Amino acid sequence: MSETKQVAVLAGDGIGPEVMREALRVLDAVEKRYGFRTERREYAVGGAAIDACGKALPPETLKGCEEADAILFGSVGGPKWESLPPDERPERGALLPLRRHFDLFANLRPGVCLPELTAASPLKEKLIAGGFDILCVRELTGGMYFGQPKFYGERDGEIVGLDTLIYRRSEVERIAHMAFRAAAGRRGKLCSVDKANVLSSSVMWRDVFTELASQYTQVQLTHMYVDNAAMQLVRNPGQFDVIVTENTFGDILTDEMAMVCGSLGMLPSASLCNRGEKTFGLYEPSGGSAPDIAGKGIANPIAQILSMGMMLRYSFGYSEPAQAVDAAVRAAIAAGVRTRDLSTGAPDEQIVTTSGMGDAVISFLR
Ligand code: NAD
Repeated sequence: MSETKQVAVLAGDGIGPEVMREALRVLDAVEKRYGFRTERREYAVGGAAIDACGKALPPETLKGCEEADAILFGSVGGPKWESLPPDERPERGALLPLRRHFDLFANLRPGVCLPELTAASPLKEKLIAGGFDILCVRELTGGMYFGQPKFYGERDGEIVGLDTLIYRRSEVERIAHMAFRAAAGRRGKLCSVDKANVLSSSVMWRDVFTELASQYTQVQLTHMYVDNAAMQLVRNPGQFDVIVTENTFGDILTDEMAMVCGSLGMLPSASLCNRGEKTFGLYEPSGGSAPDIAGKGIANPIAQILSMGMMLRYSFGYSEPAQAVDAAVRAAIAAGVRTRDLSTGAPDEQIVTTSGMGDAVISFLR
């Protein structure tokens, strides 16, 4: 751990800077505990960057990201910038170009419902007693959202809308390796979700996964149709360890997964690409900039803190410090520490501010 890692910090708008502050304080504490160093440089992004220089992703921010080993991202957007043309708004103007520029093809979203927070899930408690811990790996740069041709107009005397669902074998192979590796580092179960009973792209997807499984003998691969996966996520989410799926299915299933977890402020995410032997990534909370609570000191910083933990694990290979971050968050929740969004009104809860939650996580770092 002697090498100093460079982190581009893009806090953004709304609650972004508030929760980022706590993630960086936790990072300071983990660095001290484990004896490694990061150098962080802050750059403007989103609405804050539009206000400062007219662009959601200024060239110097992009350059800073290129020079870094990882990007720690807060969130962007808010009512102030909603009247701008769609392509100039903070999300479309910053996040999508970043994903495209770095070819961030793998989106990893943990869906964790801790045993103490099952009441926050809309699912019946008897279905999720003890909580659950899923990781969804979504292909992010291929499939129907990007396939060409796309068309909306008149053809043969009728108005038609056309999208193209295409996957190249190389695209499936690289997401498969990412998913097998993630499963190998967890409980060793990988469920590949497709629609191979209808779609040719899914038949190819399934063939590739089946073929590559022989390289990962420690991982047990299963296949599931997407319609069944959508049902199983609400029937028994605890059956899953790692789910891997293509772009469109992943878009829908990750939102369903976030919903059944119950608390948006708890869910981190990572968007990854390969950079030689290393994994470069953009790490951010799953939620948005929450303008309704920005500036009040009540935002839950856990998603941002766990995103920082994912950065340690996936981009820096620091698995022990990453585990320590996860464990400290779990310990704070087990001790009854809650930001307002997590409160169920139980008498033993200790309601804290954003920085109070940061303090609690730091105090539980082992
Ligand atoms: P949101 O996720 O910001 O908020 C939805 C609800 O969840 C709100 O009630 C909010 O208070 C709550 N919430 C979210 N994160 C929380 C946290 N950490 N702690 C406590 N409560 C939390 O979604 P929205 O309201 O639809 O969007 C607000 C803005 O964020 C919009 O401008 C949108 O475009 C943007 N957005 C940005 C990203 C991103 O930067 N990746 C993602 C989604 C939305």
